[in-house]
Amino acid sequence: MEERITKDGIVKEGNVLKVDSFLNHQMDIRLFDQIGEEFKKRFEGTEINKILTIEASGIGIACVVARHFDVPVVFAKKSKSINIEGDVYVAEVESFTHKCKNQVIVSKKFINPEDKILIIDDFLANGCALQGLISIVKSAGASVEGIGIAVEKGFQTGGQVIRNLGYHLESLAIVDSMDAATGEIKFREQ
Ligand code: 5GP
Repeated sequence: MEERITKDGIVKEGNVLKVDSFLNHQMDIRLFDQIGEEFKKRFEGTEINKILTIEASGIGIACVVARHFDVPVVFAKKSKSINIEGDVYVAEVESFTHKCKNQVIVSKKFINPEDKILIIDDFLANGCALQGLISIVKSAGASVEGIGIAVEKGFQTGGQVIRNLGYHLESLAIVDSMDAATGEIKFREQ
């Protein structure tokens, strides 16, 4: 992951790392498959029966990871409507990249109290998306068994907050600093 970010990632102003050519727009499925294999190793021995992610950019990765765990994927849907209809769990998530608030919803049909959930997402920045997903799992009475992230921006607060809450968080690459002027990206040794 680090190699690929160094090769193809583009550092944008505003602490945004663009990975459009292999993760977020065009998707390198062989890389996704390696991501799945790696998470399977890192969560070895952890019982997981469902993967939860958030639309849109988490879905592709989650689906390929799910093949390695042989479990279904549920994704939280972004919903602008104020009148949420039907039986759904709701969380409010502030988008880091789009600077807006979205309600995300998951139908109550698809998360049950017995579920042992692995949360998967592409990026971890301030942790808002993860906090929303965790709160949905909690509302359902299910348990978060682990969290797998492709790219964590270690200079933002999300990773520390989530680890301090006691969750087993695995990030495949942790960016400690990046410079939009020079394009330089430094990774945390893991
Ligand atoms: P958070 O909620 O942790 O602040 O942000 C995580 C979400 O914002 C991820 O689901 C991801 O889609 C998006 N995101 C945050 N930072 C970046 C970034 O630097 N690059 C890209 N491509 N997406 C990001």
